[in-house]
Amino acid sequence: MPRNISPGGAAAFRGGLDRFRLLAAFLVIAIHVSPLSAISPEADFFLTRVLARLAVPFFFLVTGYFVLGEDSHSLFPSRLRRFLLKTSLLYLFSVVLYLPFGIYAGHYRGLTAGGFLRMVFFDGTFYHLWYFPACILGVFLAALLMRFLSWPMAAWAAALLYLIGLSGDSYYGLVASVPPLKAIYEGLFQVSSYTRNGLFFAPLFLVLGAGLSRESSLGQIKDRRRTLLGFIFSFALMTLEAFLLRHFETPRHDSMYLFLAPSMFFLFRLALCVNQPSSKRLRNISAWIYILHPAVLIALRMAAKPLHLTWLLVENPLVQYLSVSLLTSAAAFAATVLLSKAAALLSRPRKEAAPSVSGRRAWIELDRRALLHNVEYLRGLAPGGCRLMPAVKANAYGHGALLLAKELNRLGIDSFCVACAAEGAKLRRQGITGEILILGYTHPSQFSLLSRFCLTQTVVDVSYGELLNSFGQKIHVHVGIDTGMHRLGEPSENLKGLQSLWHMENLILDGIFTHLCTCDGQTEREESYVKKQTAAFFRCVEGLEMQGCPCPKIHLLSSYGLLKYPELSSDYVRAGIALYGVLSTREDTKTLGALLQPILSLKARITAVKNLNPGESVGYGITYTAEKERTLAILAIGYADGLPRSFSCGTGSVLINGRRAPILGRICMDQTIVDVTGIPAVVAGGYAVLIGSWGEEQITACDWAELSGTITNEILSRLGGRLERIWGEDERLDL
Ligand SMILES: *Cc1c(COP(=O)(O)O)cnc(C)c1O
Repeated sequence: MPRNISPGGAAAFRGGLDRFRLLAAFLVIAIHVSPLSAISPEADFFLTRVLARLAVPFFFLVTGYFVLGEDSHSLFPSRLRRFLLKTSLLYLFSVVLYLPFGIYAGHYRGLTAGGFLRMVFFDGTFYHLWYFPACILGVFLAALLMRFLSWPMAAWAAALLYLIGLSGDSYYGLVASVPPLKAIYEGLFQVSSYTRNGLFFAPLFLVLGAGLSRESSLGQIKDRRRTLLGFIFSFALMTLEAFLLRHFETPRHDSMYLFLAPSMFFLFRLALCVNQPSSKRLRNISAWIYILHPAVLIALRMAAKPLHLTWLLVENPLVQYLSVSLLTSAAAFAATVLLSKAAALLSRPRKEAAPSVSGRRAWIELDRRALLHNVEYLRGLAPGGCRLMPAVKANAYGHGALLLAKELNRLGIDSFCVACAAEGAKLRRQGITGEILILGYTHPSQFSLLSRFCLTQTVVDVSYGELLNSFGQKIHVHVGIDTGMHRLGEPSENLKGLQSLWHMENLILDGIFTHLCTCDGQTEREESYVKKQTAAFFRCVEGLEMQGCPCPKIHLLSSYGLLKYPELSSDYVRAGIALYGVLSTREDTKTLGALLQPILSLKARITAVKNLNPGESVGYGITYTAEKERTLAILAIGYADGLPRSFSCGTGSVLINGRRAPILGRICMDQTIVDVTGIPAVVAGGYAVLIGSWGEEQITACDWAELSGTITNEILSRLGGRLERIWGEDERLDL
């Protein structure tokens, strides 16, 4: 792990959650095997009824954190819908998988319609499968609570549900001594065999997870010691509680404790503190361990008999636990590998079937997973409540604004910034929803675009505000404040003038922002300028609010600002270059941007392969003459596509079949000649990588920027409009 990044940056990696989930999966196996039962009933009780009770709530917290965390305007944003779909599919799969086991065990004998419904919607069709309906129902409920109640109220409501559940679980002994209450609960148990379900158990942890992702940024959870102490203290109390309840024989079931809630709160924060890259594979493996372990347990018991190993594998619980854990891990690993292979197979024919693939001349391939990674990473850096407002101006820095904005919409992002009205209108025409802020100037002749496409215009200064207001139609605006860059924006000192904007009837003031111009600098002068600009901005905002001019949303950071000063992020972060997975220079990308993943590759078709005899020359101006025999490949890409002409004559190179091929002669407008001498299997119809990696070799946007003496921002944003933009390999089935 690189260490030379901002503290918030490292903490933003949520790999800790994945690792804790895996541990939790093994704890669940323990619940069902009771590994210590032969050694000490007390130790086993502690392991399986106390410690292991942290496992399932942990799953719920993670779900709440990722699925319900994002503040969204719609009740069921796409992320939530996808989660519900996936979970339902997994549930369906598990139901089918366990059907034979259930039939064999006689679970479904004499099943009534009511019993069937209870099984499907609450209890699960096998003993561990209650988790799925609980998760689905819980997510529904938690989403409703979070939508209609403010965050602390939603948490209180979920806590109330939990208390009701608790009274039907490990405190039932107390409740059952009050006859009317007992009658109510007996009724409840007709509907769901336990209160440990999606109604009373799951919502609290889901809401807590969602709250944690909003309230406290990962960067802010710095006080690990206090968090650890908090966990130890509350878990000790929970242990005491569990043993006391056991002593007094109050539990009807033992999933829920009073002190489980604070224990989970601290445990989850601890997991957030672990600086590890997140791993989708680990996540999938823990899910499969959960699903598969009862089947493995049964299979092991069945296999033990003919092998004459019952004494060891069945009658020794510790050995049984270890064998089940080992075999289940192997099965889970195999399941994830198989599934990703199957998904790859399924996606391949579709890819090949698209006729444009083979005909593509030169194209940009975007990596969906890298984008998701960058979004998650940057979201993690920004304190809770702060939203990403991706800068998709200049065709999303050359990446393809429509493709990206669509995907970002899908990831729950509903605000963007662009440079001009035409860019905004284009996105709208292609179906992009949410707020689109125009950072630059729009000429009055184009004001109608603003209202027609519901674009948000920056008020570039007070007199421009008057122009906008006089247009006569309501227009959404953010007020631009100049705090020292001296580009666009009203000077922050002009409070009086700024106040007048709040009295203009046609301006709908949604936000106020400034732009910092030295965030990428390391010098003392640059860093103190950040402070100066920031102070001026907040002084201005406070001044306005004191004068009765509310500023609904405020924002000041772009990529570098977020990476270096995450504590300054307020309502939005206008992230551009970092979202695309690089920073402006190689040095910055290596240090500040080490955890980002570039999302763009640039590729071009090989249109011909030919030999050059000694003495023969190449291209315009015949700048290259062969001394020995050479093999050339002609590429269908040129400077009109954004390949700097200065890369001519061996300055630049491309990758073909994992090897470097230097550029020969002068780059043409639409074509380029490269030297492929000695590279095997180069054929017309194949392709070259101009930015991206192939085997061990890699060419980055930073390389290009360095070669041409500029920054990656310029390189990327100048990639030509003629290039096709596509997503790389389709996203694998992600459970
Ligand atoms: C382009 C732009 C951004 C995005 O900047 P990055 O450094 O690419 O993150 C943010 N704010 C304003 C005003 C911009 O013009």
